[in-house]
Amino acid sequence: MSSEPQFDIAVLAGDGIGPEITVPCLALLDTVSAKVGGFALRFKDLPAGAAVYRDTGTAFPDSSRTACRNADAILLAAMGLPDIRYSDGTEISPQIELRFMFDLYAGIRPVRLIPGLALPLADSRAHSVDFVLIRESTEGLFASHGKGEVQDDTVARDTLVITRDNSERLFDFAFRLAERRKKRGHPGRVTCVDKANVFASFAFFRKIFDERATAFRDIDADYSYVDAMALNMVRQPWAYDVLVTENMFGDILSDLGAALMGGMGMAPSADIGDEHAVFQPCHGSAPDIAGQGKANPTAMFLSAAMMLDWLGDKHGNKHCGRAADLIVGAVDNSFRDGNLVPFELGGTAGTKAITDAVMTSLDVLPARQPVTSAAS
Ligand code: ATP
Repeated sequence: MSSEPQFDIAVLAGDGIGPEITVPCLALLDTVSAKVGGFALRFKDLPAGAAVYRDTGTAFPDSSRTACRNADAILLAAMGLPDIRYSDGTEISPQIELRFMFDLYAGIRPVRLIPGLALPLADSRAHSVDFVLIRESTEGLFASHGKGEVQDDTVARDTLVITRDNSERLFDFAFRLAERRKKRGHPGRVTCVDKANVFASFAFFRKIFDERATAFRDIDADYSYVDAMALNMVRQPWAYDVLVTENMFGDILSDLGAALMGGMGMAPSADIGDEHAVFQPCHGSAPDIAGQGKANPTAMFLSAAMMLDWLGDKHGNKHCGRAADLIVGAVDNSFRDGNLVPFELGGTAGTKAITDAVMTSLDVLPARQPVTSAAS
């Protein structure tokens, strides 16, 4: 019997294009783990999402919640469908519930441009864009999720919440990430994105940022109001290293980050807590293209790479980190010559063409030597 560590992965394929990008992603994970060795993955498919709600009246069955709790990591594709909603009009979103259930306070949205893709920004410096947006994921305006009130059909309220404890661990996470990136040649800077000039909650957020910055003297602490950040993410996105922000601002800016990368199908993410973590592409279920073979699986592949990286770090398993690097290297090499153009970027490459290209690139990468285009 093999003695290599085995990691249980809870798989939530969900709705729309979710299942279409999950199947090739699991095949990629099987291939890369067999290639690298030194660890194994065991997948458990779990029902959850809008279609499950429509069919059973429950969006996130208890059995799926328990399996997520017991898993080593959670891999989620996409959930929610616009025409299936709760009675208050909100969409089915177990992916948001997971953040609260498991206290996943740090939403990691890397914005790294893949070589070879035609980019929305014409400035050649855009090719060097490589920053990480950290979106607080358990409070902020989303503290009101499921609790907002509409009074007498005349006024509606959702309340934004910032707490000291959560902000401290969020900023510590951001500064530690900047320290790790600095060792790999990044500038070592964290930018706090807020609206401290207008709201007491954000002035408090910035005050705590300043307090925590004093514990990380080798990292620069920087600030930006969120409106200026929206401007500068288009004007000079290459100027940033690590950004940290409130939940709602992060929700909006991460889509802007995805646009810089070429589209929603390119943008991976992770929601990380002290014990659990969920890895999923930034995009939703994209019902407009579901069932047509047009879904770009790249964001899902890169999210799976983030999962391997996190598992490797958490369990001290260097093989997982190696497998993560191989996935990123295979993705980069697939797009590098500019011939593989996803539908969402105006090309003709759908799920199968992109998966085939990534699998072929993975096949020729050496299992053990360094991959030059590794994840950062
Ligand atoms: P949500 O509200 O959950 O963010 P949404 O359906 O409003 O989801 P997304 O699914 O994130 O929005 O995507 C917006 C559009 O981007 C989709 O309508 C689709 O055309 C495109 N898109 C998203 N993901 C992909 C993908 N993986 N491949 C190709 N196109 C995509």
